[in-house]
Amino acid sequence: MSHIEFVATTTSKHSVRVGRLQTSSGASLATPALLYYNRLGAVPHLINTHLPALQIAGSAASAVGASESGQPTQPDSIGMTVAMEDFLPMFSPGFPRPPVISFDPARVSRFSNRFDSLASYMALDEKNSINPILIADLADIGACSERVGSIRNKFIFGRIGGVNYKVSPKDYIQAATVLKPDILVSLFDFEAEQPGTRTKSKVDRNLGYLDMVIKEKAKSLAAASLCIFGVVDGGSDMDERARAASKTIQLFDNDLSGYVLPFLARTDLPTFQQSLRQTIGHLTETKPRICYGVSSLEQLLVGIREGVDLFDSNWVCKLAEDGIALRLSENTPETMDMKSDPQKWVHDQTVMVSNCGCPVCTRPYHRAYINHLFKVKDMLPHALLNSHNLWQFNHFFSKVRAAIQDGTLGEYLSQFEHKS
Ligand SMILES: [Zn+2]
Repeated sequence: MSHIEFVATTTSKHSVRVGRLQTSSGASLATPALLYYNRLGAVPHLINTHLPALQIAGSAASAVGASESGQPTQPDSIGMTVAMEDFLPMFSPGFPRPPVISFDPARVSRFSNRFDSLASYMALDEKNSINPILIADLADIGACSERVGSIRNKFIFGRIGGVNYKVSPKDYIQAATVLKPDILVSLFDFEAEQPGTRTKSKVDRNLGYLDMVIKEKAKSLAAASLCIFGVVDGGSDMDERARAASKTIQLFDNDLSGYVLPFLARTDLPTFQQSLRQTIGHLTETKPRICYGVSSLEQLLVGIREGVDLFDSNWVCKLAEDGIALRLSENTPETMDMKSDPQKWVHDQTVMVSNCGCPVCTRPYHRAYINHLFKVKDMLPHALLNSHNLWQFNHFFSKVRAAIQDGTLGEYLSQFEHKS
């Protein structure tokens, strides 16, 4: 199990910063950055061998720490969010469709004998030069807004593919000691928000869960090196956001390696910004901050300005599935609907973005062909758009990091803000 280290450089009195997240197993990721969304052990529509080509060459060299140390720079690792619920059924009697999830010691040891960790189970090891940083949560980030699971006393209840499950902090830590993610996000309640006292009780439950997760970790020698991230929520209630942050720091910060700030996808921009401001000021500056639930470029820009280090990318995957291609690498940012309007694309023999270095635009696949694939309901265009969009975001973030270091972030981001 690896240990993580985060080096942050704050370049102004504001929270915005560049940094580097590193693991003792040699993975290294410059921040701010996008985390790849993962479903059932894979980036949707892509196979592992596709992933290195989506990285930006030389991005490691422009980040803090890498060149200063005199070490040769290597391509950045890929940060990924994974849902433990995708993997828990295999430890349970009755796999693949157990009636209720539980832990069968024989199945757990069978897994451990075959695989060193979740990364090796997912074939994300050194062999394919990905060297990932895996960030494990209990449930699929993409289903955050619809989570049926909630905390009832000492368990989280939920459903995985129609199967009931309940997970206790003990189960959660036990699963993590077998799967060995680089970062384990504490259990948390993310029910659709209700105004009033529900938000307060949700914050209290999350704090209670964090307490139990930390205590369970302390009981297990095998869990000693797990890096726990605390979840700091509070919905749209600014007092609760601040209380969640200050209580998390006051009670648990010695046991935390970083923080997760979750948002519902429909959170409006002013609430999003205010929530980040209410929260981040309380957090320990030297620890990384992950934001869940960003669902637009506008929110992403606000998150970067407010000092978020890592963003989940469930919404980026949805863009590809909806047929939306992004252009972020030119001076005129644009979204293109490649799925609709065949008349617009039918004679268009250009690539999606002329200066794009992604495997799709460099092959090249033309707009007319991509639109045709959507028209005939082929599955390939989802893979093509996801590859292209992830490359565009990686390019965008490499420019953002350079602009923060140069003190020109405002100038760089203004082209996107004027567009929106
Ligand atoms: Zn492209």
